[in-house]
Amino acid sequence: MRITTVSYRNKHHIAIQESDSCWAVSPQPANLGDALATGEVETLLEQSDSWSRAGLDELAFLAPIPYPRRNIICLGMNYAEHAEESLRAKGRELELPEYPVLFTKATTAVIGPYSDIVLDEQVTQQLDWEVELALIIGKGGRYIAKERAFDHIFGYTVVNDLSARDLQFRHKQFFLGKSMDGSCPMGPWITTADQLHDPHNLTVRSYVNDQLKQDGNTRDMVFRIPEIIATLANVMTLQAGDIIATGTPSGVGFARQPPEYLQPGDITRCYIEGLGEIANRIVSA
Ligand code: MG
Repeated sequence: MRITTVSYRNKHHIAIQESDSCWAVSPQPANLGDALATGEVETLLEQSDSWSRAGLDELAFLAPIPYPRRNIICLGMNYAEHAEESLRAKGRELELPEYPVLFTKATTAVIGPYSDIVLDEQVTQQLDWEVELALIIGKGGRYIAKERAFDHIFGYTVVNDLSARDLQFRHKQFFLGKSMDGSCPMGPWITTADQLHDPHNLTVRSYVNDQLKQDGNTRDMVFRIPEIIATLANVMTLQAGDIIATGTPSGVGFARQPPEYLQPGDITRCYIEGLGEIANRIVSA
């Protein structure tokens, strides 16, 4: 099932894809993040046969979880080639992390799959792209064993972990450079876990203005999904609706020779096999 949050007749609703051109829309205004967090999503879905049908021209796609209840949890350096390019750009030798590198993005970074990214050049002059597979937690918990990790996943989506490199490196901790408004486009929907045969064998690509920039595969993750979930849940209670971005493959802008950064007018596209594609234009503030 493909499920998301849409704007329909000026209100937010949960929507499920019926066909290429038709979606079923929840009768009451709702958003998927809240429905997951409160556990109401299952009851809602049981009634989805009676939901109204809407064509694509009646819908605007929002981020599946437009208002996360807490920060997006992210992994850094989780693909070996990306770790290598990042360290090389800083003049350092490759050293793979021994433990997952974790940071978060502010909830207010989230925007829709086709929304514009507003670039304030007073804030950053080094905006960079990072396509990533994101997990959506469906069942919370603490001390989740690796063997049980997949039981806690509701589904998967695509995010662009846009990064203001000047802020990221100037402020040492990643948080500020990863939290600019609009720096977490997400979607175009959540593909539920039952639909994805193997999340560790998916092509992951990003493009800027139709030029291929990143071309990876989730099989190359340093820390795989069960380990990521077990590591987090060993310390903190995961909650339904949590979003975990699993890191980006090589090909980001700052590690290129010469470095490349996004400019107003550029269009970034992030694609993951089986999940779909998000596309966002950079516009001036
Ligand atoms: Mg990232």
